Amino acid sequence: MAVNTTADWTNPIHCPFCGTELESPGAGFVDHIEESDDCKQSFDHWRENITGDLAGEWAG
Ligand SMILES: [Zn+2]
Repeated sequence: MAVNTTADWTNPIHCPFCGTELESPGAGFVDHIEESDDCKQSFDHWRENITGDLAGEWAG
């Protein structure tokens, strides 16, 4: 069972960093990283690496 390679970033149900189930797909993830410093840092770091590919989806 791969975790990182199959994450559905457009509609995540679980946090791909800690595995926590989100209250709602997408928006729930945004709320989650606001509450979890570790996941926020991981997400910020991840986003820096893929900005060129998906930046538009996450703006705002
Ligand atoms: Zn998390």
